[in-house]
Amino acid sequence: MATNGEGEQNLRHQEVGHKSLLQSDALYQYILETSVYPREPEAMKELREVTAKHPWNIMTTSADEGQFLNMLLKLINAKNTMEIGVYTGYSLLATALALPDDGKILAMDINRDNFEIGLPIIEKAGVAHKIDFREGPALPALDKMIEDGKHHGSFDFIFVDADKDNYINYHKRLIDLVKVGGLIGYDNTLWNGSVVAPPDAPMRKYVRYYRDFVLELNKALAADPRIEICMLPVGDGITLCRRVC
Ligand code: SAM
Ligand code: CA
Repeated sequence: MATNGEGEQNLRHQEVGHKSLLQSDALYQYILETSVYPREPEAMKELREVTAKHPWNIMTTSADEGQFLNMLLKLINAKNTMEIGVYTGYSLLATALALPDDGKILAMDINRDNFEIGLPIIEKAGVAHKIDFREGPALPALDKMIEDGKHHGSFDFIFVDADKDNYINYHKRLIDLVKVGGLIGYDNTLWNGSVVAPPDAPMRKYVRYYRDFVLELNKALAADPRIEICMLPVGDGITLCRRVC
């Protein structure tokens, strides 16, 4: 097979300048073992291990994405943030550890029990005071925030990791709540790789169900002139949206 000057197979990637290196599970494991696990805060390790024993552990944010979020929040000096979809709190803890002592996270989830699995670890880490957890569906809560007018343009960062069929509805509201220059991160925008699977490919039921919503979201974000976007192949894909107007 033909190779280019750097030894890559020409047929593998077709876009000019394509330099994706993540070719194997072994390479992902290398990232975890070389860069992520050695620097993972003790509390995040403990929460990751507790979450691994929970039956719904497939929902948790991966350790490499946790490290990414923590770094990103520090880079943008985030102080006032929101998270939609908490589960046991791994991404929440990554966020809480990155914020200054007077930083705030408005955290929403329909399930408080799972948040309470992680809460003792978050408390032990000394960052629980930054978290305002609200139990309940996020959409009506966002509507209320828009209605009362106090939160417009007030969030530095919003992480969306909940019901994928509502992401478009969240976006319609969050674009008003995030500040100009602030970021919204939509998680799982590569949706198990299913975004490029043929419609008749075998897929788990939940993957198939949400796939069209993720495809719609990705199209809508790419066409939205109010934001700049960057889709990163970290975890299951995260699309960062920077509000520009
Ligand atoms: N960010 C979490 C972490 O790091 O472990 C993972 C979140 S998990 C993928 C999705 C969460 O969204 C679940 O805990 C679920 O209860 C929550 N959820 C589902 N529908 C919701 C809704 N309408 N409003 C708020 N939370 C919702
Ligand atoms: Ca996720």
